[in-house]
Amino acid sequence: MSTLLVKNARCIATFDQADPTQARELSDASIFIRGNLIEAIGPAVDLPQTADEVIDARHLLVTPGLINTHHHMYQSLTRAIPGVQNAELFGWLQGLYPLWAGLTPDMVQVSTQTAMAELLLSGCTTSSDHLYIYPNGVRLDDSIEAAQEIGMRFVATRGSMSVGKSQGGLPPDEVVEREDFILKDSQRLIETWHDTAHGSMINVAVAPCSPFSVSRDLMRESALLARSLSARLHTHLAENDHDLAYSREKFGCTPTQYAQDLGWLGSDVWHAHCVKLDDEGISLFAATRTGVAHCPCSNMRLASGIAPIRQMLNAGIPVGLGVDGSASNDAAHMLNEARQALLLARVGSAMRAPEVRVTDNGESRTFFGCDLGPAEMTARDALSLATRGGAQVLGREDIGHLAPGMCADLALFDLNTLALAGGAVHDPVGALLLCASPQAAYTVVNGRVIVREGQLATLELGPLIEKHNRLARQLAKI
Ligand code: ZN
Repeated sequence: MSTLLVKNARCIATFDQADPTQARELSDASIFIRGNLIEAIGPAVDLPQTADEVIDARHLLVTPGLINTHHHMYQSLTRAIPGVQNAELFGWLQGLYPLWAGLTPDMVQVSTQTAMAELLLSGCTTSSDHLYIYPNGVRLDDSIEAAQEIGMRFVATRGSMSVGKSQGGLPPDEVVEREDFILKDSQRLIETWHDTAHGSMINVAVAPCSPFSVSRDLMRESALLARSLSARLHTHLAENDHDLAYSREKFGCTPTQYAQDLGWLGSDVWHAHCVKLDDEGISLFAATRTGVAHCPCSNMRLASGIAPIRQMLNAGIPVGLGVDGSASNDAAHMLNEARQALLLARVGSAMRAPEVRVTDNGESRTFFGCDLGPAEMTARDALSLATRGGAQVLGREDIGHLAPGMCADLALFDLNTLALAGGAVHDPVGALLLCASPQAAYTVVNGRVIVREGQLATLELGPLIEKHNRLARQLAKI
């Protein structure tokens, strides 16, 4: 088995404890990797001095590979479409469905690799993708094969839409599928690709798109199928006020009550967005260990709102981060997503009404939102969501922090850059989140160097971008 040594790192942030303030941060330390696993991590003098490949990390900060828990990679073809730049979720979807109806297998393959290249270059090593539209012979296999070629750890989800406009749903009838086929295809995909072993590079989950595009039956049957095959469940929930209104009007309940009724709460389920989760929803999610994929940029772009992340974390809900589809972010930079999570949490707190609290010395004091905001989310909290939190949400115990026996998924960032000048000298981890988000210098996935000296090592980026742009024009008919 080949070996890889990350040598003399300026800082290694391990995130080896759930409480990021307790996690080990090592300076002048090394990581020794054999095959796909971390074999040793510690002071450079105590570790081997050479290996088959050695990365000189004297100017680098090493973090666990970042984990993206929610995406729609095909949407990279429809970023910044003028007609929906200023729409909220439902209007945005209705404007884009007709374009997406033209999606082809080639487009899925190329856009998946484009999205993954962008993520890998931002330090992301594992990504989920939610593909829920299958026109013109598109199959989930197209994205799985694309992931294998580029070398990213992948949680592919078999999305679906089955309730078209004529049945009271949001999508046009021509993009929905039959429910019996959806279930049969989900089973085929799990049986073909889903690997639950330590170090698995591919998981498959079952993922009806949203309450407003599938039936109750499909939600219930999907949950039964996934559980019978030890696969996880994923969907969108409580994304904005229209989503809440739809739930109230069509189902007579809140999104959380709907999910509970259909077997969609549990430690094997993660829901995207959850911007509008109410107190009862937070309690039910916490009691059932149901996961949340927090998508701060998308929630800002579509004006959906500010998800109550601190409240969720305090209640014990597993929370990871998601860049969400490229047509509602439209930047799939995982580290930047963590930075935005930090900033948005603080803004959210600043909007709270003043509170009178008794201080440690017994005096009553009025705390304004701006007093409470900074503690909502620290730099280490945000990076923990992007690493450990993501692993928990995806049900992975072999990724998300750095320790012997864990998969060798690492992100390495150069600290000697203009963006970090005068910051990394004080606190490399703090500067990584607070300064402008850099690209990764190296990204290691499963022991393999996928980004080397800032360049993608597995694919040529120039031809990929050219092809992607040609297909984007073709899809938008321009
Ligand atoms: Zn989404």
